[in-house]
Amino acid sequence: MNRIGIDLGGTKIEGILTDEKYATITRKRVPTNQEEGYSSILELIKSMVLELTQESDDKFSIGVCTPGALSLDSGLIKNSNTQCLIGKDLQNDLKNILHCDISIENDANCFALAESKLGSGKNSNLVFGVIMGTGVGGGITINGKIHRGRTNIAGEWGHHCLHTGGNSCYCGNKGCVETYISGPALEKNWSNLSGLNQSLPEIIQNSDNPNFDNWKKIFLDNFGLALANVIDILDPDMIILGGGLSNIDFLYDEGKDAVYEKVFSDTVDTPILKNTLGDSAGVFGACML
Ligand SMILES: [Zn+2]
Repeated sequence: MNRIGIDLGGTKIEGILTDEKYATITRKRVPTNQEEGYSSILELIKSMVLELTQESDDKFSIGVCTPGALSLDSGLIKNSNTQCLIGKDLQNDLKNILHCDISIENDANCFALAESKLGSGKNSNLVFGVIMGTGVGGGITINGKIHRGRTNIAGEWGHHCLHTGGNSCYCGNKGCVETYISGPALEKNWSNLSGLNQSLPEIIQNSDNPNFDNWKKIFLDNFGLALANVIDILDPDMIILGGGLSNIDFLYDEGKDAVYEKVFSDTVDTPILKNTLGDSAGVFGACML
C-alpha cells in the first residue's frame, strides 16, 4: 500500500506520496494561509491529497504531522502554534472529507520516527529526537515505534522544569526548557546581555562581541542540564537534534561536553547527532504513522 504524509506547519503544508518502502513518488508544497481559517486548511489538505493520488489507483494510508497534540480526553488538537487548529477535531473532520482513516501525530514524535527509520538513528533501538526551533519538543522511539506513554506526553522535554521559579512559560509553568533554549529565548537573552536585537544566525556570527562567551556559556549550561536529565532517565542509544538550532555547530562538541559533565555516569558516550532528513522529517514521519 502507498503512503501519504502531510506536514501541517504554521507557514506551509507539505505532502508526500511514497511507496511501501518510503521511496518518494510525488511531493507538493503550498502556503498554509492561517488567516483564512480552519476550513481553508481542510480544503488545502483535501486538494493536496487529490493531487498526490491523481495518477495512481493504488490504495493509500494518510498520516498528518502537526505541532501540538491530540487531547486524550477530547481528541481535539491542543498546544498547537497553528492556532486556528486549537480545539478542532482535525482527525474526524479530515476523515469526513477524505473518506478514509487518518493518523495524526505531534511533529517531534514524527521527527523522531522518521530519523529512527530513515535518518541518523537507523538501526538504533532507543532514540530521543529533539526539535529546537521556535519551540522545543522531544520524541522517543523504541524499536522504530513512537513511545507515547500513558497519557501521550512522553518526550515532552520542552516543558520539563529546568529552573524552579524560572522564566514564565505560555504553558502556565515556570522554568520550562523551552523558555531557555528555544530560538526566541536565546535571542531575548542575547538582547538582555548585549543590547542588540539580532537573529540567532546573526548572534552566532557575532562571536567577537564581548558578551558572546557569556551568552554561549549560559546556553550550553542549560542545554547540558536539559539533555543530561534525559540521559539519566532514558539512557537512549542516541540523541538526534532537529529544528533551526540543530545547525549550530558547537552543540556537537562543546554542547556534547556540557551534557556529559552533568550525566550521572562515568562512562557516558551517548552520541548527539545532527538529523539527516532536515525539513523532510515531518512528511516522512507522517507517512510512517
Ligand atoms: Zn512550559
